[in-house]
Amino acid sequence: MKPFRADLHIHTLLSPCGSLEMSPREIIARAKSRGLDMIAVADHNSTYHCELTVTLGRETGLTVLRAAEVTSAEEVHSLVILPDEASTLSFQAWIDSHCTNMPHNPDIFGDQVVIDRDENIIREIDHFLPAALNASIDEVESAAHSHGGLFIPAHIDRPAMGILGQLGFIPGDLFIDAVEVVGRIADLLFPVIRNSDAHVPEHIGRRYTEYMLESASFAELAKALRGEAGRFIIPQP
Ligand SMILES: [Zn+2]
Ligand SMILES: [Zn+2]
Repeated sequence: MKPFRADLHIHTLLSPCGSLEMSPREIIARAKSRGLDMIAVADHNSTYHCELTVTLGRETGLTVLRAAEVTSAEEVHSLVILPDEASTLSFQAWIDSHCTNMPHNPDIFGDQVVIDRDENIIREIDHFLPAALNASIDEVESAAHSHGGLFIPAHIDRPAMGILGQLGFIPGDLFIDAVEVVGRIADLLFPVIRNSDAHVPEHIGRRYTEYMLESASFAELAKALRGEAGRFIIPQP
């Protein structure tokens, strides 16, 4: 068992707010240079860059987890981290079935492009990806768990798009695996993690969390969030 440093909230250039420099290859190079052992790519309501990033990560010895930053009907952002390729495809289909197809204006919000490993554009998404799904936060949580994923309300201490800012409280019936904070919050009943929410390469690893694990993997992360079998979130100094 040893400490692993992870940043589990990184946007690629697919997110309209993500810099065009945020290609999977660039993200991996930056993550490695920042000393990260594990990352997750989490684009708004989309997982289209997960497989490419996982593949490039595997080739260079960086563990990449598949994730999405889902916007619920209440405009609450949550990270959903998924165990494997099949569950990710299936979760994307669930997202698509709740998409409201709000038109996207790239001139105002930025491009939403999917690229291949040679950085050729292979697809442009024409609905506005961050728009709220027609699914409540309870439904997002249920879908995350029915796909074997982890449900982590994002940046809960930011005034906008976090669960506390949008709802004013954390509903007691939500099954929460962890909460992501930007600053410091005391007296939370949930495991607390910190991630960069990077949209530009320079921000990758600006916030991270260290976990005591056997290896860098989804299964080990899940155990650490539950405090199981000697795995745990290493408290910050
Ligand atoms: Zn967000
Ligand atoms: Zn984000």
